[in-house]
Amino acid sequence: MRNQDAWRALRAPFLTGLCLSLALMLLSLAALGEGAAANPDIPTLPAVPTPARSPAPTLPPPGERDSARTLRVLQKDGTVATMSMGDYLWRVVAAEMPASFEPDALRAQAVCARTYALWRLNAQSHKEDGADVCADSACCQAYLTPEDAARKWEANAQPYSRKIAGAVADTDGQVLTYGGAPIQAVFFSSAAGSTAGAEEVWGRALPYLVPVDSPEGDEVPNYHSTVTLTADEVKTLAEGAGLGCDLSGEPSGWFTDIVRSASGRVASLKLGGAELSGGAARSLFSLRSTAFDVGEADGTFTFSVTGYGHGVGLSQYGANALAKQGKGWREILAHYYTGAELEQL
Ligand SMILES: [Zn+2]
Repeated sequence: MRNQDAWRALRAPFLTGLCLSLALMLLSLAALGEGAAANPDIPTLPAVPTPARSPAPTLPPPGERDSARTLRVLQKDGTVATMSMGDYLWRVVAAEMPASFEPDALRAQAVCARTYALWRLNAQSHKEDGADVCADSACCQAYLTPEDAARKWEANAQPYSRKIAGAVADTDGQVLTYGGAPIQAVFFSSAAGSTAGAEEVWGRALPYLVPVDSPEGDEVPNYHSTVTLTADEVKTLAEGAGLGCDLSGEPSGWFTDIVRSASGRVASLKLGGAELSGGAARSLFSLRSTAFDVGEADGTFTFSVTGYGHGVGLSQYGANALAKQGKGWREILAHYYTGAELEQL
């Protein structure tokens, strides 16, 4: 990691220098050619400012239990970094939840992140990489280095860094279990009144991932969003996905048979007679969640969407809303993971 930092620090001025040298060389060559010498408008290159590097914030050490456990984390560049659970959790919480959230929401997030990491470790899905987890949010959990976090948080870097370190240390070693094993502690951004059950999203029921009420609402940024598509755009997307649907009729009759799940999300629908799941429709039309309605007027479709994410497990904005109501992290976790227990690592 130190080598990478050194390279990063050297790289910007080195590349800037290289670009300037090449540009000057080209200009000199151009000046030798016909006409160039007569051209008084040879541009002078503006100096490229070197971006200021934020200092890495000083972090208090994680708790005893999270310090004692090591994790091998597959980085995006393919290398594997070995670090303590506490250091890993800091990076995940910093990446996964806004640092401005309530301390108890961040503590709940730290427990989810710890539990999810252990669940992944037990699943051994990165065995072939020689790692326990990876730093890719599309696979395991999102991940932000203290240096990148400081750059993102700017003036708040020190207080936010300490706040996240506190959330990790305050929940040192705490893990959610069901039947004695770490649960699949999935989480998402914001729900549409209720969370979704694992079964309605992934087709496999889990007793601790069932729909529960979630209190967030209009305080969530982009809580209500819309996606507008013309009939031609819908047709192109449907054809690209090879749905095999018949879109020869009037657009007003294209979307039919919308079936809703227990949590009110779209479980399935038909497009030109071809059935697709709510999740497939979400990804096909780039919707923020499967809690949507679709309407048509004059050959244009409008998808009205509520919330963001798959909807299963802990809602981050819901956790923040509960924390604002005075609920502690243990209560927040008990609310979103039905029947799960908190245990010491
Ligand atoms: Zn992974």
